[in-house]
Amino acid sequence: MRNAVVLGASRGIGFEFARQLLRQGYNVYATARKKEDLIKLTNLGARGLELDVTNSVSVAGLSCQLNDMKFDLAVYVSGVYGPESGSQYVPSMNDFDQVMHTNVWGAMQLIPLISPLLTNSQGKFIFISSLMGSIAQTQSSFGWVYRASKAALNMTIKAAAADYPKTIFAVMNPGWVKTDMGGSQATLEVNESVSGMLQVINKLTLKDSGTFQSYDGRAMNW
Ligand code: NDP
Repeated sequence: MRNAVVLGASRGIGFEFARQLLRQGYNVYATARKKEDLIKLTNLGARGLELDVTNSVSVAGLSCQLNDMKFDLAVYVSGVYGPESGSQYVPSMNDFDQVMHTNVWGAMQLIPLISPLLTNSQGKFIFISSLMGSIAQTQSSFGWVYRASKAALNMTIKAAAADYPKTIFAVMNPGWVKTDMGGSQATLEVNESVSGMLQVINKLTLKDSGTFQSYDGRAMNW
């Protein structure tokens, strides 16, 4: 049986990854911060594990629980948007820290922990980034801190891919998705975004490691 771990699965895109992976027959480990979300994930059929990606003690706790596991797929989904403002406003240090810690430092903590647990040559480690992290496609500054965090995440993954040549690393643009973060005006239902991403993920091979992909199969410009 194939094993997957979804990091940040309490709601939105992460919860949908857990749901669809279970449907595809994966044995799913799914993390959340709150007890009630862990119960929700257990009821779905996943194995719920507590994780706050901004807390190194919590990350160490996850490491102990995953000891000796092997995964075919890991998906890092946790993320926060932070302030909507752009470059005419100074972000508070707290807002900056929260966004960077969640979107970038969390990934940096989990890469050395999860990568050795991925199966050689076929194991995939996927990170949910954003169109807003594409420097090439940026034309405005709203969500300034978030943009910076996703561009930093992209670099984090591109750089790490070189150190783990037997693992397939990729960052993904999920599209604009109807979730708490994306809002009700978004263009994609969460199931469409995740099924699109899973189709792309299933086709990735080692030669695609260190690439930026989109849910609809288009390659993204960094
Ligand atoms: P949601 O706001 O619905 O969900 C965010 C998820 O991140 C929740 O599971 C939340 O857990 C988790 N999270 C936040 N902080 C932490 C933390 N400190 N530790 C662990 N988990 C944490 O957003 P989406 O589902 O829309 O977003 C998922 C990912 O997709 C994010 O990385 C986001 O940036 C990205 N994305 C989303 C887009 C969209 O249109 N929706 C577009 C582009 C990218 P909790 O419930 O405990 O808060």
